[in-house]
Amino acid sequence: MTEIRGWASRGAKQKLEPFTYNAGPLGPEEVEIAVQYCGLCHSDLSILNNEWGLSQYPVILGHEAVGRIVAVGNYVKGLRVGQKVGLGWTAGSCMHCRECMTGNNNLCAEAVPTIVGHQGGFADRVRAHWAWAIPLPEALDISSAGPLLCGGVTVFSPLLTFGVKPADRVGIVGIGGLGHMGLKFAKAWGCEVTAFTSNPSKADEARGFGADHVVSSHDGAAMQQIANSLDILIVTVNRPLDWAAMLKTLKPNGRLHVVGAVLEPMQISVFDLMFGQKSVSASPTGSPSAIATMLEFAARHHIAPQVEHFPMSKVNDALEHLAAGKARYRIVLDTDFV
Ligand SMILES: [Zn+2]
Ligand SMILES: [Zn+2]
Repeated sequence: MTEIRGWASRGAKQKLEPFTYNAGPLGPEEVEIAVQYCGLCHSDLSILNNEWGLSQYPVILGHEAVGRIVAVGNYVKGLRVGQKVGLGWTAGSCMHCRECMTGNNNLCAEAVPTIVGHQGGFADRVRAHWAWAIPLPEALDISSAGPLLCGGVTVFSPLLTFGVKPADRVGIVGIGGLGHMGLKFAKAWGCEVTAFTSNPSKADEARGFGADHVVSSHDGAAMQQIANSLDILIVTVNRPLDWAAMLKTLKPNGRLHVVGAVLEPMQISVFDLMFGQKSVSASPTGSPSAIATMLEFAARHHIAPQVEHFPMSKVNDALEHLAAGKARYRIVLDTDFV
């Protein structure tokens, strides 16, 4: 039995308040993690504001938690007390459906999001199914690793899923929390990388993150210049774009892949896809195996998100900072319960 202290919202669009709950006995396949750091992801804001209509309150937000395991259930496999682990968007899945059994656990119909019907990582402790508590490589800096667990795997996963090759040309749309990690991963993967941003002040930083080219999607001449050149375009923004213009940047057989939670329906002409045999797709975060692969890749290539730290007790200030679009580029909360 554990009393867990965290920062919870009691309803949509409300400030987070200190909140304590009794987590009950630890499940046989669960681990309990003492949280040291937790990233703040845009989806925390979406759940706080009930933008997707699935929020349940009170909810402790936070789904990019890193820390050490302090307790393991009787049937936990492969993890031990004291181990450094990370937990992302998903805290559990059924482990017996086709998706789970083929390593696509993030597509499990019974997957439990860490902050929906489950209490998240803006807390001193968080619980998860053992399969979703992913060991952190020694070489990773634990103080900036949090954002890799959700944001990082979200932009890394398409490189794995679609077999992106080092000789490929990759476009990353939106240079923010997700996009800046996308640039780093695609560059380290060996690709020629084009960053799309409508904010000229981010151009130099985008190059610093690994972009070979920086293009404003509002610049018709620049868009014309890169027409028919990209193998995959990874869209990290959550607002509608000029999809026809974006599709023109793709080579035949190219793919426009969306990882930003765009709420509006996409208006796309079949003809913009048909003649170049192009594809449009989307994906949610990644499987435990994709997360582990991404962490290993990040450690090998010294890839870390660029983060700003707030004490967890200032979580409301951090949420405001994020909502105002001021985060450069990802926020991490440092646990400071006394
Ligand atoms: Zn997230
Ligand atoms: Zn399943």
